[in-house]
Amino acid sequence: PIVTPAKVPSNTKPVKFFSTVPYADLCEVFQEVESTSSRLSIIKICSDFLIKVMKQDPQNLVPITYLFINKLGPDYEPGLELGLGEGLLMKTISESCGKSMQQLKNQYREIGDLGQIAQDARNVQPTMFKPKPLTVGEVFQNLKDIAQSQGKDSQQRKMRLIKRMLTACKGVEAKFLIRSLESKLRIGLAEKTVLISLSKALLLNEYETSKDPSMELIETAEEKIRDAFCQVPNYEIIIQSCLNDGIMELDNNCKLRPGIPLKPMLAKPTKAINEVLDAFQGEEFTCEYKYDGERGQVHLLSNGEMRIYSRNGENMTERYPELHIEDFLVKDESNTDKEVSLILDCEVVAWDNEQNKILPFQVLSTRKRKGVELKDVKVRVCLFAFDILYYNGEGLITKTLRERRKILHEVTKCVPGEFQYATSLITAELDEIQKFLDQAIKDSCEGLMVKILDGEESRYEPSKRSRNWLKLKKDYLAGVGDSLDLCVMGAYYGKGKRTGTYGGFLLGCYNQDSGEYETCCKIGTGFSDEMLTKLYELFREEEIEVPKSFYNFDSSAEPDIWFEPKVLFEVLTADLSLSPIYKAGSATYDKGISLRFPRFLRIRDDKSVEDATSSDQIIEMYENQSHIQS
Ligand code: ATP
Repeated sequence: PIVTPAKVPSNTKPVKFFSTVPYADLCEVFQEVESTSSRLSIIKICSDFLIKVMKQDPQNLVPITYLFINKLGPDYEPGLELGLGEGLLMKTISESCGKSMQQLKNQYREIGDLGQIAQDARNVQPTMFKPKPLTVGEVFQNLKDIAQSQGKDSQQRKMRLIKRMLTACKGVEAKFLIRSLESKLRIGLAEKTVLISLSKALLLNEYETSKDPSMELIETAEEKIRDAFCQVPNYEIIIQSCLNDGIMELDNNCKLRPGIPLKPMLAKPTKAINEVLDAFQGEEFTCEYKYDGERGQVHLLSNGEMRIYSRNGENMTERYPELHIEDFLVKDESNTDKEVSLILDCEVVAWDNEQNKILPFQVLSTRKRKGVELKDVKVRVCLFAFDILYYNGEGLITKTLRERRKILHEVTKCVPGEFQYATSLITAELDEIQKFLDQAIKDSCEGLMVKILDGEESRYEPSKRSRNWLKLKKDYLAGVGDSLDLCVMGAYYGKGKRTGTYGGFLLGCYNQDSGEYETCCKIGTGFSDEMLTKLYELFREEEIEVPKSFYNFDSSAEPDIWFEPKVLFEVLTADLSLSPIYKAGSATYDKGISLRFPRFLRIRDDKSVEDATSSDQIIEMYENQSHIQS
């Protein structure tokens, strides 16, 4: 029987979550998950806990879901990143647990887990009085305060807050508290698993049954929550909506809206035009120039405010003070006061105003990122629009690409050099595509994006790397079809000409299931001397004494120095091969997959490290190589 779910007033927007659930209970769950390998058992542990806390108070779900995924709010909200450095944490543990820095360093070299060290230190420390046990609400709020504290005294403030919490920690609490502060819980709990557990808990609550709902129902609920999350990547809004009106109503209640960046649709790489023709056989498709700039999701809110979000959902409106979307709209002459709201998907590209042409990405990257004033703008940009996702109250993502394009052209207008449409061509002729690709390259583009035009497959699929969008990058046609974005895990000291800087780096991909970085190559090619100097300065800040416990590497490919996982390199490779000394994809193959003749292209700073090329992507690229297939 469907019972009306517990009602929560929909207008409440809690800033603080007063969850009184003991933090110790949450840590017990973390501990259990850490020692469990079966995914189904992990789902059960998490959903049982979520159900329990939901019964006490449905509001508990929000902070607990965030603590499960080691975040403090939606990705698009600034200032919620933790990732505190080892130095600060060690100092805090030392001062609050009565251990010398040297003792901690020695232990750290042995164990490699600051959380475990804090726990051990805390548990042998005698306490004079019994502090009040920590609650989830308190920890969540303190973590937020720590993340948001800035300025002169912020170090002290952070240390004070951590110490206060550490003093109250018992059992395994200190371990997980420190790991949360480092931004890596390392218990093998992927976000996908949290999403399933949350769906199950919300379902059980809604249907008020203690019996497990059918797998089919759980899958439907999970799909609805996942779809809603792609459009509104905010757990708080989604949980509230489920509690208010039920999961099955999510489709109607949690739709994309201007002001909340949705996760962009991504493309799959291809290595040849033939491959595109095979993949899209029988479908009508369009080829578009693939511009080499920065993705810009342009939002116009009904109050007239414009925002431009990056690929990561970062609000970068202030970077482009010269862009005003109203200038590019077709006005309704019969009602000029009519409010317009929309979301466009565009590429922001550097533009040469005199010669009326596109400039390379390197020129765009010289623009300041913050606090840009109109008078400082030296590098002009042009917006190249390729999709419209929302217009005046209506989400358009389920419409076909052909329909969306028509709407895009009806409601906006081309202003040369400021707002243009992605150049496109509809053809299924190999020769014509080849010519179009060559022209795209002559016009300073990276290659082509090829997209299905009609039917369900042409829907806009937020956050998905879709088979319905293929990229053809001129430079990579001979290799694996694309460049890779890899995390810099460590470095080797330079010799000879490179003495005094790092001579090479150890790179890894990200395994989204295990949360580990898996090594896949050493790289020493493609760096200019200036770049090596710049990298030396950059990485000096990130040096750590021991590898992170979530680094998966082989001892035969150990670097001289390890780094915090902070920076991605975009690299080229000739091809991929199996190797006993690397670890990428080694859960699938006995050996790891590694890059042959990797070459550095650039630092990739518009992606977070967890957006690195995934192990699954590397496996897919490896398997798509022709010599593997034959
Ligand atoms: P990833 O490496 O995760 O695939 P990426 O950011 O490196 O992503 P690519 O996959 O190389 O990007 O290509 C997709 C990107 O190309 C989009 O994010 C967008 O910024 C850019 N782009 C340029 N022109 C177009 C176009 N016509 N249609 C869609 N995307 C385009």
